[in-house]
Amino acid sequence: MNMEFTEGDVLLLVDIQNDFCPGGNLPIEKGDEIIPFLNPIIKKASAVGIPVFLSRDFHPRLHPSFKENGGKWPVHCIQDTEGARFHPDLNIPDNAEIVSKGTRFDKDQYSAFDDTGLGDLFKKLKIKRVFVAGLALDVCVKETAVDSVKLGFKTYVLKQGTRPVSKRSGEQALNQMKELGIEII
Ligand SMILES: [Zn+2]
Repeated sequence: MNMEFTEGDVLLLVDIQNDFCPGGNLPIEKGDEIIPFLNPIIKKASAVGIPVFLSRDFHPRLHPSFKENGGKWPVHCIQDTEGARFHPDLNIPDNAEIVSKGTRFDKDQYSAFDDTGLGDLFKKLKIKRVFVAGLALDVCVKETAVDSVKLGFKTYVLKQGTRPVSKRSGEQALNQMKELGIEII
């Protein structure tokens, strides 16, 4: 993909963590295949001073999203466990900023913007365009991109840099995002 970054851009990588990759507790099929696609893009962004943000699902054990606590998901991304770590093949720049979410006891946070203060920070940094990729397309990537466009940022989703939980809901997510003006590139 031939993508040019300019000042005011940000790369926002959603939840590329062990538990969401094959072998993890909530694996997305071929979730790890996005990494060789994303690493050169991360490198390119860093080289021209574009900020790189990585969100992570970072749950306490009693998180309400877990089935055993009344939610819909198997236990995943428990704070400070191997499953919550970023995938080891992901090349993370030293100055990357980490956004932890899913840390609350009263609700889940699919979007990296949901009560994290990230939207205000991006405005302070004069961010204009947000490039989103990561896992999973039909859950946290979608919700992050939807919030991004609602906050007034020009928003792009890197199609080769994401994978869905299911093919069908992945297609639905793409259509829903396009309708909101999010560009799928
Ligand atoms: Zn979660």
